[in-house]
Amino acid sequence: MGLIVQKYGGSSLSDAESIKRVAKRIVDTHRSGNEVVVAVSAMGDSTDELLDLAHEVAPIPAPRELDMLLTAGERISMALLAMTIKSMGYDARSFTGSQAGMITDARHGSARIVDVTPVRVREALDEGAIVIVAGFQGFSRDTKDITTLGRGGSDTTAVAMAAALNAEICEIYTDVDGIFTADPRMVPRASKIERITSEEMLELAAAGAKILYIRAVEYARRHGVTLRVRSSYSNDEGTLVYDPDVLQATSGSGEGQMEEPIVVGIATDLNEAKITVLELPDIPGKAAAVFDAVARTNVNIDMIVQNVSGSKTGTVDISFTLPTDDGQTVLTALTAAQEEIGFRRLQYDDQIAKLAVVGAGMRVNAGVSAKLFSALAGAGINIEMISTSEIRISVVTRADMINEAIRAVHTAFGLDSDVEAIVHGGTGR
Ligand code: ASP
Ligand code: MG
Repeated sequence: MGLIVQKYGGSSLSDAESIKRVAKRIVDTHRSGNEVVVAVSAMGDSTDELLDLAHEVAPIPAPRELDMLLTAGERISMALLAMTIKSMGYDARSFTGSQAGMITDARHGSARIVDVTPVRVREALDEGAIVIVAGFQGFSRDTKDITTLGRGGSDTTAVAMAAALNAEICEIYTDVDGIFTADPRMVPRASKIERITSEEMLELAAAGAKILYIRAVEYARRHGVTLRVRSSYSNDEGTLVYDPDVLQATSGSGEGQMEEPIVVGIATDLNEAKITVLELPDIPGKAAAVFDAVARTNVNIDMIVQNVSGSKTGTVDISFTLPTDDGQTVLTALTAAQEEIGFRRLQYDDQIAKLAVVGAGMRVNAGVSAKLFSALAGAGINIEMISTSEIRISVVTRADMINEAIRAVHTAFGLDSDVEAIVHGGTGR
């Protein structure tokens, strides 16, 4: 008998009908001889609705109370799901994050898991029950308060439960058939990926792929949890996200040894902006001064480009990208330090988009950048910034060219499918 953890997102639990459909899936998994632990998100868009309400009553809602409020969303779906299963004649028990032993630090709104002690979950399983755990929430031992793991945190709950209970697999149910070579909403001919390494998935998530929450992928990678991303609307096997070391160890003969594709997927990110520091004195210590000021804001910046020094002026320009939401914070910090650092002015541009191609096969294949750049050139798209890692190449383009860009690159790397991808609904989460 194996233990399977399943996670259902808000779009799979949007009304009574879909809760019944999900309950049936869970019962089927239980009936085929598995122990089942389910992590749930709040129904539909209810987390956003609760957030809107909070902001209507308070301009800056108190973080502790906001977590109290938002965790109610998951509590509603867990109770409804458990009572649905019980009315079908099977034993089911729901637990809040704290009852399930999800221990976190005290950072409201973005708490980190520090320990998972699923004692009551284990007991309930031993008694033959199906266990439903509220996703996205935990409990701080220090403050004795309820916390949340950050938006999209139910994926992390599922992975953490899978790791703590030594599950065979953690299935993440969503509204598409798996992980695609690009977002099927942007590239209708995106192909479903059969299997992808957790390292590649991490790069794709970091580059903006919304299908899996990055912290969940990190957690899975660190704890050797194998994931399967699949649709709650179909019986498609979905996409396996695996660590070649772990999977080889558990399933022996040759699995995970397939040749790696050069590019496994393409991600885009429209939530980035670009700040350019113009006419910075070209002397040692100036770049450090700029990024010191930026670092003090705690904002994560991504790509950095410095142009060649203008020999006449003795100055350089430096551009970097950052999340659009953080743009104002960083502009304010740099403006405050302008006199001390000595640059002439700042330029802010939020009409950019980032596109990244990812694949472990890049390690052993030359010419990936050439192919990427000529695909973009062929589509008449200008590249504004470039950055690379071992298994990723990212470029910045104009935001209004991103759809053309991703389709051209998708075709160039031979990723187009013969059929159009099916999107069952929802928003991609
Ligand atoms: N309900 C939470 C959110 O919308 C957590 C989740 O869906 O994973 O962010
Ligand atoms: Mg949600």
